[in-house]
Amino acid sequence: MENTCGPIWVFAEQAEGRIQDVSLQLVGKARELAGALNVAVEVILLGDGMNDQIKFLFAAGADRVYLGDAPVLAWYQPEIYTGMIVSLAVEIKPEIMLIGSTCTGRELAPMVAARLKTGLTAHCIDLNINEDKILEQWIPAYGGLISIICPENRPQMATAARGVFPMPAMDESRQGEVVLLEVPTEIAGRIQTLEVVRREPESVPLESAATVVAGGVGAGDEKGWRQIADLARTLNAALGCTRPVVDEGWAEHGIMIGQSGKMVSPELYIGIGLSGELQHLIGVVGARVMVAVNKDAKSPVFEQVDYGVVEDCRTFVPLLIEKVKAYQKRHAAPYAGSQ
Ligand SMILES: Cc1cc2nc3c(=O)[nH]c(=O)nc-3n(C[C@H](O)[C@H](O)[C@H](O)COP(=O)(O)OP(=O)(O)OC[C@H]3O[C@@H](n4cnc5c(N)ncnc54)[C@H](O)[C@@H]3O)c2cc1C
Repeated sequence: MENTCGPIWVFAEQAEGRIQDVSLQLVGKARELAGALNVAVEVILLGDGMNDQIKFLFAAGADRVYLGDAPVLAWYQPEIYTGMIVSLAVEIKPEIMLIGSTCTGRELAPMVAARLKTGLTAHCIDLNINEDKILEQWIPAYGGLISIICPENRPQMATAARGVFPMPAMDESRQGEVVLLEVPTEIAGRIQTLEVVRREPESVPLESAATVVAGGVGAGDEKGWRQIADLARTLNAALGCTRPVVDEGWAEHGIMIGQSGKMVSPELYIGIGLSGELQHLIGVVGARVMVAVNKDAKSPVFEQVDYGVVEDCRTFVPLLIEKVKAYQKRHAAPYAGSQ
């Protein structure tokens, strides 16, 4: 039967010339979806000096890479990136377009979708092709999971965070075609990236932390939040939070865990003053042991965790810090030279 579908596209995000894990994970997922539609997997890669990275895209499952390679593309430039992706999409007519739910992807995807006059489902936690060959885009909502479809307009666009899909098995023998794109010679447009200033993370990175302490709006106020942050520091844990904590301005979006934030898989997760909504806990699926502290014994969070502590965090957290510090002091390594 003749295949009338366009290819599946993935936007491959790079930072400092390295393709990001999330993009390889999306290429792997695209490969799986492409099997159901019998179409090719194509990747758009924009950057400067990216030739040595292309092999990773083929190994992950790409059949073709559209490469824009020029100094002007070294950093994400909203208008150039959007313009290049949109004009190529108008020509090639992809059936599906996947973009990482990163800082860049969160801005780029809606701009591309708006210009292509199509739908976009942000922060998907699963994707599959249904019996009608339509992309089902799963997100947590209404206390469960719902699937969103875009039945008519194309491409069907979705974003997903790093860690939602596993890294694909990399097949280094896979080859593909590279198509070079014409690149504007200078940065134009009203929005331009002029400089990128790196800020060192204040604590252990969330994604690789063995222990994660996450605080919710039950912290009460900034003082309560700082107590939770102190506990994380004392335990040498990474600090995470729920969305209302970001909305309150106590913490930055970069440490939010969940559907629209980071995915974590620590050995130990301690959730304090949070209700365990699916949009948050979906980001903690990989944790080995989970503990919750909540003053409400009936809080739904207790159904989701291994151990529950029914306490007011404003009194419990300072006490716990004290106990942990006393324990650390008792078990501290003796000073060199001591008896
Ligand atoms: C599309 C969409 C995407 C979303 N993405 C995310 C996401 O990525 N991450 C995320 O976190 N949220 C996300 N949300 C929001 C999410 O649905 C919840 O609203 C949020 O996770 C709840 O945060 P919370 O548990 O801090 O607040 P609440 O649900 O208000 O819970 C506060 C808890 O604190 C307890 N508490 C109050 N005072 C104390 C005290 N003194 N001591 C101990 N416990 C106390 C209360 O009993 C309550 O259980 C999203 C929502 C939508 C619609």
